[in-house]
Amino acid sequence: MAISDRYHRQRLVDGIGDRGQLAISNSTVAIVGVGALGCMSASMLARAGIGNLVLIDRDIVETTNLQRQVLFTEEDADTQQPKATAAASHLAKVNSEINITPHVEDLTSRNVHHLLNSIDVIVDGLDNFNARYLLNDFAVKTNKPFMFAGVISGQGNVMTIIPKTTPCLRCLFPNPPTSGSQDTCDTVGVLAPAIGIAASCQCMDVIKFLTDNKGKISRTLLTFDLWNSESNRVGYGEPIETCPCCGQLDFEYLNETVSEPVALCGRLAVLLPSIDAFDLEMATKKLQEHGSFERSDTMVRGEFHEERAPDGSAIKMLCFHDGRSIIHGTDDIRRAKAIFERYIGN
Ligand SMILES: [Zn+2]
Repeated sequence: MAISDRYHRQRLVDGIGDRGQLAISNSTVAIVGVGALGCMSASMLARAGIGNLVLIDRDIVETTNLQRQVLFTEEDADTQQPKATAAASHLAKVNSEINITPHVEDLTSRNVHHLLNSIDVIVDGLDNFNARYLLNDFAVKTNKPFMFAGVISGQGNVMTIIPKTTPCLRCLFPNPPTSGSQDTCDTVGVLAPAIGIAASCQCMDVIKFLTDNKGKISRTLLTFDLWNSESNRVGYGEPIETCPCCGQLDFEYLNETVSEPVALCGRLAVLLPSIDAFDLEMATKKLQEHGSFERSDTMVRGEFHEERAPDGSAIKMLCFHDGRSIIHGTDDIRRAKAIFERYIGN
C-alpha cells in the first residue's frame, strides 16, 4: 500500500516512520461516545490516518454542545442530527482516505460484542460510569486496550488500560459512584480546554500502542485540574489480584441484561431503552396518525397533537431504528413508557 504524503510530519517522528504509519493505516479504532471527548479524539485520529474509525453514539446534537463538541455546527443542532453520523460526515471531508463507520446506538451488554469485536483499540468518550464499566469488562475479557478518560469542570482523569499489563478501571475504582452522587457536566459544567488535555492523552496512547511503542505508555492514572494548574499521577502500576474484573474475571457489567428507562438529567426528557424487533417504518406510520412526525434513515421524530407537557407545549418524541426513544416534555418515566406503549405498542 502506498503511503500518502499527508502523514509526512507524523512519519518523521522518531518511533513512527513508514512502518508505524502503515500500522496506523491498517488499524481499527472505536470511539464510544461522540460528545466533547469523542469529537476531539475522532478529529485527531482521523487526521492521523487510522484506517478504520468506528463512531458510536446514541444522542443528537444540541446547541449547548457547541461550546466544546468541536466537530458539530449550528446546522447540526438546528436539524437535530445524530452525533455519530454528523461527526462521520464532517470527518469524511477531513480525510477521505480512511473508512469511517457511524453507529447511532446505545452501547449495552447486548450489542457490545457485535459493535466492538473487530476493534484493535477502544477509546472512551462516554459521559456515564455504567457504560464505562461495561467497556472495562469487555476490554479485559477480550484483551483489548481501553483508553479511559473522564472530565468535568476544569478537571480530568485519564488512564490507559492494557489488560494483563496495567491496572484496569476496577483495580482503581472497584465500583462506580452511585447514580446522582457525582457532579456531572450538567451540574458543574465543563471547559473545553480540559477535554482537550484528556483527549490528547488518549490519542497519544492510541498512536503509541498501534506503532509498537507500548513501553512509553504510563501504567498510572493521570489526574489534573487545569483550572487550578495542578496535576498528579496515582495508582499501583500493576493489575490487582483482588480486582473483581481483571483479578477474579467476574464480568458483572457484561453479564447484566436489562437496561432501564432513565430520566435525562436537566432536560425534562426520558430515555427508553432499545427493544428487540423494532420496525421503524411501522412505528412511523403509527406516529403519523397522532402528530407531525418525519422519518430519516436512522430515526423518526416529531410532536404529538394531543400529548402536552406541563407548560402546555406539545410532547416531542424521537425514536431510533433500534426502538430506543427519547420523549421530551416529561421527566416522568411512567408517563413516557405509557406514551410509547399507547402510540407504538410492543
Ligand atoms: Zn482490574
